[in-house]
Amino acid sequence: MNKQQLLINGAFVDPCTNAWYESFNPFTGKPWTLIPRAGKDDVDRAVAAAKSAFTYGSDWRKLTATARGALLRKLGDLISQNAARLAEIETTDNGKLFAEMRGQLTYIPQWFHYFGGLADKIEGRAIPIDKPGVLNYTREEPLGVVAAITAWNSPLMLATWKLAPALAAGNTVVWKPSEYSSASALAFGELFEQAGFPPGVVNIVTGFGNEVGEPLVTHPDVAKIAFTGGDKTGEHIYELAAKGIKRVTLELGGKSANIVFDDADMDEAVKGVVSGIFAATGQTCIAGSRALIQRKIHDEFVEKLLALAKNARMGDPLELTTQLGPVATRPQYDKILDYIRIAKQEGAACVLGGAAATRPECGSGWFVEPTVFTGVDPKMRIATEEVFGPVLSIIPFDEEEDAIRIANSTVFGLAAGVWTTSIRRAIMMPERLEAGTVWVNTYRAHSYMSPFGGYKRSGIGRESGIEAIREYLQTKSVWIDIAGNAQNPFVMR
Ligand code: NAD
Repeated sequence: MNKQQLLINGAFVDPCTNAWYESFNPFTGKPWTLIPRAGKDDVDRAVAAAKSAFTYGSDWRKLTATARGALLRKLGDLISQNAARLAEIETTDNGKLFAEMRGQLTYIPQWFHYFGGLADKIEGRAIPIDKPGVLNYTREEPLGVVAAITAWNSPLMLATWKLAPALAAGNTVVWKPSEYSSASALAFGELFEQAGFPPGVVNIVTGFGNEVGEPLVTHPDVAKIAFTGGDKTGEHIYELAAKGIKRVTLELGGKSANIVFDDADMDEAVKGVVSGIFAATGQTCIAGSRALIQRKIHDEFVEKLLALAKNARMGDPLELTTQLGPVATRPQYDKILDYIRIAKQEGAACVLGGAAATRPECGSGWFVEPTVFTGVDPKMRIATEEVFGPVLSIIPFDEEEDAIRIANSTVFGLAAGVWTTSIRRAIMMPERLEAGTVWVNTYRAHSYMSPFGGYKRSGIGRESGIEAIREYLQTKSVWIDIAGNAQNPFVMR
């Protein structure tokens, strides 16, 4: 099997540990490549390279913001040229549909173009200060070395959401991809040199959370942690970051509600709920894993939903006709089946699926049948905890206020969907829902231009949109005396 290498200071190198681990193809359940199992010494090397690349007077710091932006746009173009190849690596590594990964890869360049364009529009302010004889202005400056730590479900997109604004702002980066999906990160790493980035501006260190992630988070030369992953890991990283008074952006999990009112266009709502939970085999942070259905239309809605969901084509994720691929990792597969067992024990009615998929087209892969529970109580674990799989909980409600109360009743607040033809509801519901993103009569829409992030336990900070670049800047206030008056040294000016 091919032994991959780390990207440190512009060169592909073996890990100091001299250790590798097998990465598995979820469709075959078999290993297909060897990923470096890096350790603390590799983190030290990578952070040193990133720190040196950030040092005042370095090739990176000498670039004008316009030149930095041009590099980012060049990188975007290179990603476009390599989109299909990178998407195939992602599908082989994490089992998500090639159609979805290729779609992401052809869209990812937009982030580099957008933030490349923003790089030279980061401006300070001249403040009409209240003191005579003084000029006061602000500078927006990069933070330094940013540690990017990402999850496995959309490996390059999640990294792009961090790298594009971090680099546009002038920072340098050490990126630790998920141990389950590092192959595409390392292939992506080759493009930085081709685009002309100076060595050390972007470094990639692969391996496990405790062996690589933790030394990275606690490294004294890391200024900020940009993290995507589960809420428990996010909480731990937040604690570690607090000890070093480091900045964080945390993009965490969700338990998003997809709310269907009785005035909705039923067929569109059915499609929206199916796409919310079964697209990407439910392995997205924004999965609409709770469908809140107004009681008057509940039975008809469930019937239509089952008709659509049970015909989803499962199989090889590389085939363009496949609609539901395998689960990305063996632990995740076991976790989903555990939650299905828990839901049954809690008394929810399993009306579709509810087991591992053994269809012939699923081969030896880690497949779970699309699963739907009805009669779910909002307090059940299946309705409050993130499953991260193709498991939908249907919860009936009567009045608008019930829908709002149930939707807001989890600790998460990442996203929500609302299906209605009422203009009043379309405007009022987004105001009342505790979520960072609310979709009305659509679901899973996203863009490089629109801020994304969580309320409550779903996270801190925003990615994408103009807001994102502020997460990678700090403001300096500069005071210049222009009066030349002697100052009384014993009083504040
Ligand atoms: P995870 O928390 O297990 O791992 C995420 C990353 O953190 C991995 O790279 C892992 O190696 C690293 N890590 C683990 N322990 C660490 C430690 N002690 N110190 C530093 N790093 C450590 O999450 P996952 O299973 O890879 O991803 C699934 C989760 O990600 C879900 O909860 C999902 O909702 C969330 N997610 C959120 C978003 C978002 O934008 N909000 C997007 C995608 C996924």
